[in-house]
Amino acid sequence: MKKILLIYTGGTIGMVRDPATGLLRPLDFAHLLRQIPELNQFDFRIDTRTFRPVVDSSEIQPPFWQRLARMVVDAYEDYDGFVILHGTDTMAFTASALSFMLQGLNKPVILTGSQLPIGTLRTDGKENLISSLEIAAARDENGKPMVPEVSVYFEYKLFRGNRTTKYSAETFNAFQSPNYPLLAETGVHIHFNRNAIRPFQAGKELQIQEELDTRVTFLKIFPGLPGEVVATLCELAWLKGIILETYGAGNAPTTPDLLEPLGNFVKRGGIVLNISQCSAGSVDMEQYETGKRLQDVGVISGKDLTKEAALTKMMHVLAQDLTVEEKKSLLQSPICGEMNE
Ligand code: ASP
Repeated sequence: MKKILLIYTGGTIGMVRDPATGLLRPLDFAHLLRQIPELNQFDFRIDTRTFRPVVDSSEIQPPFWQRLARMVVDAYEDYDGFVILHGTDTMAFTASALSFMLQGLNKPVILTGSQLPIGTLRTDGKENLISSLEIAAARDENGKPMVPEVSVYFEYKLFRGNRTTKYSAETFNAFQSPNYPLLAETGVHIHFNRNAIRPFQAGKELQIQEELDTRVTFLKIFPGLPGEVVATLCELAWLKGIILETYGAGNAPTTPDLLEPLGNFVKRGGIVLNISQCSAGSVDMEQYETGKRLQDVGVISGKDLTKEAALTKMMHVLAQDLTVEEKKSLLQSPICGEMNE
């Protein structure tokens, strides 16, 4: 009999409204499980584990990803797949981080949650959880897992985890994957998009790479960005990486207030990774003068990375024992399907 491990970390799916404050707060796993008697009807075994404390995912910090990755690794041999219940606010960050940390993964790790708590009548949580479990247990004609990678399931759609971004705080379809096709879609049947799913990697062993270098930050370009902000950031001696959120295809003003501090940051060994504020499309610093000037001061292209994948990839790559040039080259090439070639 197949075995799936269901890990509960918190999020709206398991929340209840505090009668005193009227605010939503996470409750224990037992409460959530009581709302879903359907869990007993599967023809595979579901074991459950809970994180302590269970949290609103806005509280999540990188050490949480390390604990979660370790939980999957420790249970890896005993289970056929993993479903992680997680708040939607930082789900795309966690999914991206896990994709980099779980190298050689050959089993499904599916993150899901909901926009309405499981105890409410119109909850989206039941469908999200039940379909995630089915997908985690699904096998192909050779008995191999259908989706042997980190993914996010929400509102009838399965996305590659490190291509996902939260885009709606209101509608049930809370996530999008603007630069990569769906891995599966559920309706009466589950339709797997086998061309998009990363194939089973025969002979690969799971290896955890849990080190993360958190000495990184975002810098978002906007009309009126004060030069002092850029200068102060770029002078921080401990800072190792900046994710520059630019306009369109990777463009920014050509003012010395921006280019000089960024250039100096690069000269002293810092890495500046250019991603676009647009959700769809890719950075191409050779399209416009305004992009080329960034390239000339040593800014590198994050191509079509989401902000979530850019941040977690930067933390992952900077933590490795490599030269700055090797790190730059790794940042510009796909590691686990997070960016196009
Ligand atoms: N604030 C909640 C969380 O991320 C939102 C949700 O789960 O939808 O934990």
